[in-house]
Amino acid sequence: MNICIIGAGYVGLVTGACFADLGNKVVCVDNDKKKIEMLRKLKMPFYEEGMDEMIKKNVLAGRLFFTDSIKDAVKKSVIIFICVGTPPKPGGGADLSYVENVAVEIAKNMFSYRLIVEKSTVPVETGKWIEHTIKLNNKKKIKFDVASNPEFLKEGSAIQDFMRPDRVVVGVETKKARDLLLELYKPINSEIVVTDIKSAELIKHASNSFLATKISFINSIANICEKIGANVTKVSYGLGLDHRIGRDFLKSGIGYGGFCFPKDLDAFIYISDKLGYDFSILKAVRKVNESQKEIFLKKIEKELWIIKDKTIGILGLSFKPNTDDMRYAPSIDIINSLTQNGAKVKVYDPQAMEKAQEILKGIRFCKDPYEAAKDSDALIILTEWHEFEVIELSRIKKLLKNPLIIDGRNMFEPERMRKAGIRYVSVGR
Ligand code: NAD
Repeated sequence: MNICIIGAGYVGLVTGACFADLGNKVVCVDNDKKKIEMLRKLKMPFYEEGMDEMIKKNVLAGRLFFTDSIKDAVKKSVIIFICVGTPPKPGGGADLSYVENVAVEIAKNMFSYRLIVEKSTVPVETGKWIEHTIKLNNKKKIKFDVASNPEFLKEGSAIQDFMRPDRVVVGVETKKARDLLLELYKPINSEIVVTDIKSAELIKHASNSFLATKISFINSIANICEKIGANVTKVSYGLGLDHRIGRDFLKSGIGYGGFCFPKDLDAFIYISDKLGYDFSILKAVRKVNESQKEIFLKKIEKELWIIKDKTIGILGLSFKPNTDDMRYAPSIDIINSLTQNGAKVKVYDPQAMEKAQEILKGIRFCKDPYEAAKDSDALIILTEWHEFEVIELSRIKKLLKNPLIIDGRNMFEPERMRKAGIRYVSVGR
């Protein structure tokens, strides 16, 4: 099939590359000309395992193209995916201006039937607004359909999540739209849930909110564990073995971040308020997540007493491992608080340092974990990269001014640290 993907970001690029890999002809459009230039030179604008190879393979096979012209791409493609950003607005709602701009451009450049699919995470009823916008700008009265096909991929395992999803959700209002999307997703061997557009939009809201709730729930349990001397890792294991609950997303730490959970939760709370429903569970989930960072900062203070002039090594910056994405990473607030209190901060992350340099100022970027540890009063873990799991603890101990590790991701067994002669502070244990 001929497909167009508008917005070559984390979601758009993965979607485009995967659909091309499944044998479709895909044009990825982005209005960031620099990004398009990079992609044409087969350089990746972000880190995602396996993307490099998949993009190269499909470009060379003549199935994947990049352009900054929506006009050209819309002309050639029957199915058009909208994958642009939907960032948060100050009041908590989603900024849908990128989606609207794209809808206008599509409408102006359609010359025969088109299926316009919203893949960006959008508030319920956005489908209706896209349809309205296209109708307003579709002077030639070309036939079109709008559909919702929310994306559930996770950065760090995006290709696998796209190719082998738990489910594909397709929100459609016509048979033609349904048939086109079922045909496109035929090679993907997962259950396809076909619904109306609003229900599809709500499935995405509900999924992200539920996952965020699991994280805040286990973080609350971790806080209770600390108060009574229990071990949250054990509690989580015992809890998660119940198949009605499940083990995923029950890892305590410094809270969730990234481009999805914080903004999607804000947007869902905002929409619910607008609809006259007080979604109090989600408000509590957000509050717990925010306080988790403050609790962690208090732990650092408890260990170091005075933060001013202390040297603090940080391992991990990205909001989770296996990505260079720094958007809404908990590390930002934690590091900013430490530097504002006068600490000298040295950081290391396997992939996110380039992106972090644009956001975090007044800190030193190190070449490896050992440089971050050298002469530091404490070493703090903020992202659970595998590289840190296999770190040489004896070397770290020698390098630290004070053998203290404060782990916001519970990467190590406390017993292992005790044996290594390192004071180890983690979350809920
Ligand atoms: P992103 O910021 O990485 O990518 C968005 C891209 O859209 C950018 O490259 C931007 O230049 C481009 N763009 C903006 N306006 C444009 C226009 N008018 N024409 C062409 N291109 C335009 O964002 P992302 O992380 O890929 O997220 C996109 C959407 O998918 C969001 O709604 C997000 O919530 C959702 N989502 C993200 C993830 C994730 O893990 N990142 C997962 C599922 C869903």
